[in-house]
Amino acid sequence: MHAAELIERKRNGEELPAAELREFVSAYARDEVPDYQAAALLMAVWFRGLSPAETFALTEAMVQSGETVDLAARLGRRVVDKHSTGGVGDKTTLALGPVVAACGAPFGKMSGRGLGHTGGTLDKLESIPGFRAELSVDDLVDQVREAGIAVAGQSADLVPADRKLYALRDVTATIDDVSLIAASIMSKKIAGGASSLVLDVKVGEGAFMRTAADARRLAEAMRALGVEAGMDVVCLLTDMEQPLGRAVGNALEVQEARDTLAGGGPADFRELVIEAATHLLVLSDLGLAEDVAREKATASLADGSALAAYERWIRAQGGDPDPEVLPRARVVRRVPSPATGFVRELRARQVAAVAMELGAGRERKEDPIDHAVGVVCHAKRSDRVERGELLAEVHARSEPAAEAAEAALLAAYEIGEEPETRPLVLDVIR
Ligand code: URA
Repeated sequence: MHAAELIERKRNGEELPAAELREFVSAYARDEVPDYQAAALLMAVWFRGLSPAETFALTEAMVQSGETVDLAARLGRRVVDKHSTGGVGDKTTLALGPVVAACGAPFGKMSGRGLGHTGGTLDKLESIPGFRAELSVDDLVDQVREAGIAVAGQSADLVPADRKLYALRDVTATIDDVSLIAASIMSKKIAGGASSLVLDVKVGEGAFMRTAADARRLAEAMRALGVEAGMDVVCLLTDMEQPLGRAVGNALEVQEARDTLAGGGPADFRELVIEAATHLLVLSDLGLAEDVAREKATASLADGSALAAYERWIRAQGGDPDPEVLPRARVVRRVPSPATGFVRELRARQVAAVAMELGAGRERKEDPIDHAVGVVCHAKRSDRVERGELLAEVHARSEPAAEAAEAALLAAYEIGEEPETRPLVLDVIR
């Protein structure tokens, strides 16, 4: 394999043979191809695209660059997993895992930390005092066997090629390519060993994919890679124009997930949890029909079994599931509505920026985060509000921070005369 010649062929629009592409990626993972050649190939791919066969070859090579885990073989059961392409207020795993586990399907998952405007599941979980996210694969398997559910940080040995390539893409303007995103996400899912997967592809200004057409292309590319690797995959396309649920901020989101498991919680979040759980249960080894799966998932929120699964899970990883022990911000400021009318927009990216500014997220990997701060959007799209009524709450470290956040949060809202309704689940691709 001649790296320069391969780059030239891709630059000229040729489809590369799978074996050569695999060799390039393996050599790059072993530090035998320099960053500048990998960067040039990535840019050629960005302009010329990858065929489905090339995308699969890239994914396979990334999977083979490190350790793989066969959770299903180790547990002797099908293991279900879910992945979201990232959104604002997306705490779905925290409630979905317990619902699925309460219904009898093993839920084992490796999750990431947040970077940029979307928060990571591990950061949210680590706002729970005592919670340990770093589990070895053996501990993860044992815990799924005993408690029915485990969520751990991704092992450093899983898909090292993706770690290198992602870092390179990040600084060479080559993140936003459907094939590269699909290969990056699916290589981690395939190496992580789940049998079935529900992919929640977010659509809108708060997401990677701004339009439904782009989200559908990504969903279909990821689904094809999963199916090729022997997985059952269902993709949901869901709205990310406004935050999911009301809470944005780590401990606030844990509280909201727990409230939902206790039978309350915001309607949109509850709807997504039930929708995703339904598809995971259908794909599990329980052999449930869709209507039965939906009934079981809904019942688990009403009868306390999902909450019990959450408490079992958090305790198994050393945490205290009592919501009273979650960290709280020193300042909680009410944001009243400046007008009477209907919420027409609640711009997700702006809400995320407010939460970031308060300290809830990180720009760089090494940045510390404040688990207590964030915002709670009490009024969401299509809700009617009276002037002076509670629109939102800011949870901040100080009064000046709360004051700045209030102004920025108000700018994320648009209040008008007519209600604006859009569905949460835009499509299901199976
Ligand atoms: N998430 C990933 O893991 N990889 C990408 O390329 C984009 C989002």
